[in-house]
Amino acid sequence: MGKTGYFTHRDCWKHEMGRGHPECPERLDAIEDRMLSSGVGDALEHPEVPLATLEQLMLAHTREHVEYLQSLAQRLVADAPAGGPDHAQIDPDTSMNGYTMLAARRAAGALIAATDAVIDGSLENAFCAVRPPGHHACHDKAMGFCFFNNVAIAARHALEHHGLKRVAVVDFDVHHGNGTEDILANDERVLMVSIFQHPFYPYSGDTDPAPNMLNVPVPAYTRGMDVREIIEAMWMPRLEAFKPQMIFVSAGFDAHRDDDLGQLMLNENDYQWITSRLRDVARRHANGRIVSTLEGGYNLHALAGSVEAHLRVLADL
Ligand SMILES: [Zn+2]
Repeated sequence: MGKTGYFTHRDCWKHEMGRGHPECPERLDAIEDRMLSSGVGDALEHPEVPLATLEQLMLAHTREHVEYLQSLAQRLVADAPAGGPDHAQIDPDTSMNGYTMLAARRAAGALIAATDAVIDGSLENAFCAVRPPGHHACHDKAMGFCFFNNVAIAARHALEHHGLKRVAVVDFDVHHGNGTEDILANDERVLMVSIFQHPFYPYSGDTDPAPNMLNVPVPAYTRGMDVREIIEAMWMPRLEAFKPQMIFVSAGFDAHRDDDLGQLMLNENDYQWITSRLRDVARRHANGRIVSTLEGGYNLHALAGSVEAHLRVLADL
């Protein structure tokens, strides 16, 4: 069994979107506290996290999108001494502060470094405890708490920089990963499978827009046992047939029954089960290579327990 990397950086705490916003730095505190108190953190590798370059962000985004957010961030920082605004609003629930670009580049940088380490074999798999999350970030726009699509950037990095031929993207966040879909639809080197509450934000995903996308919308209050059955019946045959050389996971934990931002009924045991099924596929076809990253998850206690369950499987604890 190989090593499991845990990638995080203090810059990811500095991005915040205003008082009371659910996508808050305390989410990372809850995960860090649990890594310490459970002892799980001691069993993991803690590599350095670089900043993604602007060119790396452009693996998944237009130059205009990257430069627009960069210029917004620079203006916030430049205007701050003269009493300028703390935040720049992107959409009704998404805003930037002076550190958002830094945090977002660390988040993408974590996934790129994790991808490098998992492909060069120094790690078997990795989890990135980073924010802002990414799966709603589209080719040319930020939305839904997301600025750059960390998973899509890393998947493209694996394909373009490392020459992999087939990578899978798995998304079990309660919300449809519309941004990842926007970027990776019709990229035949990628198979994306997802399950999410529907109808629900962002109100997309009720059909498969391309042959390489498998969307499984489920109604509010779907139970964990039913989600497991659906995953077994729908995801697993596609993943087995595709034989991915690497698996990227958009690990949102807001489908937890205690999470107020969604109405699905999963618990820690379900996340453990899903992770073990993915680990099985990865070990069969991909030398165990999994890079997983935090997306949603807003009930701090449920988030900490779910990440612990996810990491225990990844690290064979
Ligand atoms: Zn979500």
